[in-house]
Amino acid sequence: MCMVLGASVGRELGSGLQGPVIWPEDGGYDAARGVFNGMIDRYPLAVIRPLDAADVVRSIQFARRHGLSISVRGGGHSVAGHAVRDGAIMLDLSGMKAVVVDPETRTVRAEAGLTLGEFDRATQPFGLATTLGVVSVTGIAGLTLGGGLGWLNGRYGLACDNLISADVVTADGQLLTATPRENEDLFWGIRGGGGNFGVVTSFEYQLHPVDLVLAGAMSYPLSVAPRVLRFYNDFVKAAPDELSTAVSLARTPSGEPMLSIAVCYCGPIEDGEQLLYPLRTFQSPVDGGIQPLPYTALQSALDARFPSGRLHYWKSGWLRDLTDGAIETLLQYLPLMPSAASSVGLQQLHGVASRIAPSATAFPHRAEQYDFLILSQWSEAIDSDRNIEWTSALFQAMQPHLEKSVYVNNLGDEGPGRVKAAYGQNYPRLAALKRTLDPDNLFHANQNIDPSRI
Ligand SMILES: Cc1cc2nc3c(=O)[nH]c(=O)nc-3n(C[C@H](O)[C@H](O)[C@H](O)COP(=O)(O)OP(=O)(O)OC[C@H]3O[C@@H](n4cnc5c(N)ncnc54)[C@H](O)[C@@H]3O)c2cc1C
Repeated sequence: MCMVLGASVGRELGSGLQGPVIWPEDGGYDAARGVFNGMIDRYPLAVIRPLDAADVVRSIQFARRHGLSISVRGGGHSVAGHAVRDGAIMLDLSGMKAVVVDPETRTVRAEAGLTLGEFDRATQPFGLATTLGVVSVTGIAGLTLGGGLGWLNGRYGLACDNLISADVVTADGQLLTATPRENEDLFWGIRGGGGNFGVVTSFEYQLHPVDLVLAGAMSYPLSVAPRVLRFYNDFVKAAPDELSTAVSLARTPSGEPMLSIAVCYCGPIEDGEQLLYPLRTFQSPVDGGIQPLPYTALQSALDARFPSGRLHYWKSGWLRDLTDGAIETLLQYLPLMPSAASSVGLQQLHGVASRIAPSATAFPHRAEQYDFLILSQWSEAIDSDRNIEWTSALFQAMQPHLEKSVYVNNLGDEGPGRVKAAYGQNYPRLAALKRTLDPDNLFHANQNIDPSRI
């Protein structure tokens, strides 16, 4: 029971809810407050695990009545750790995982506590999928609300581009349905504006026929990396929408710096074989290969590289072109990377995702480009300083090559300037929407549009 609020207030909260309330003195509290990034060690007032939208409404009404702060957890993967906040009510949606697929209309209604893997497991028996991210334990909620970049983005757009509707509990405790025709502004804002406007309890997505994909990764030693990256950069720019790619610069288990190129072709396998022939043959890889794979195998292929609980520090920005200067900088810093678990990634935003108008959804970064991301991760706190220093130094050195903008879902706690850069040209409309829907900034544990500072 709650020491801070008093027993009767704690009882008031618990008695109205279907889902459990976990207080600091309860057994599961430490596990419940934990998030993916082990750097985050915060102590919420209580963790509420709603089981339905009514629980979310009650929790928000309760927080308002008692002047409490709220944070919202979908899959807990935000590296900034905004899902948990000291002294706040943590609304943990992991108890809400209902998912209903309609194979006729190729749509799915998915509750906000699902992970990508759970979502794919529900849709793949019907040979259907939509764009999500590339690590299966990430939450669909945070990912979709920020944009959602994954292997299918070239052909089908981002996760947020595939939203048909969403149920959202707003700051005044109302449950609204947002669609292109109903609460249109809210529907616009949740497709890239993050958790600023309410708690999404469920999403409805458009699905697409996706079964076997032609996918895999090829690895090369650093000695040939400049040549490979130049070829890759030209090749992928001319590639059809069906092909999405990513680059990773990392270390092998034996410690050697290595370049990998990963691909996913989601059209007919024979067409993909032909398309990828030049990429596969112009320089022999030392490891890896490309083959027809079940989509779910691709979606979990990177999971082992991102175990929960490691310490993470990320820096990111959009990269329009892999110029010689950018390649040189990357290759200069890579051998100095302090942690063998870290990597530098370039995730390609391509095709359909790049051609949608920047103002059509709140996600503004519509161009053929790479999501450049320094993913530093390590295990011991004693190593934090040198990992953070290396990450910051590489990020600084990359500045001349990067756009000033950044993908909101990669952002740490980097200040209001970077938040504005993440929302880009859509910031003024997002700010107006925030003033209307959440003037008191109840939903501030996010990449926040603060109505008092607009
Ligand atoms: C290992 C790893 C791999 C990743 N890969 C990709 C990738 O391939 N593509 C990509 O686009 N991104 C990727 N990301 C980034 C990812 O999109 C963000 O971390 C995202 O926030 C994760 O969502 P979540 O629900 O798990 O996060 P959480 O930490 O639970 O939530 C993050 C924030 O989203 C908001 N939020 C969450 N749920 C709700 C809700 N139901 N209603 C309202 N607001 C909510 C809250 O503000 C919350 O603080 C990756 C992250 C990691 C750690």
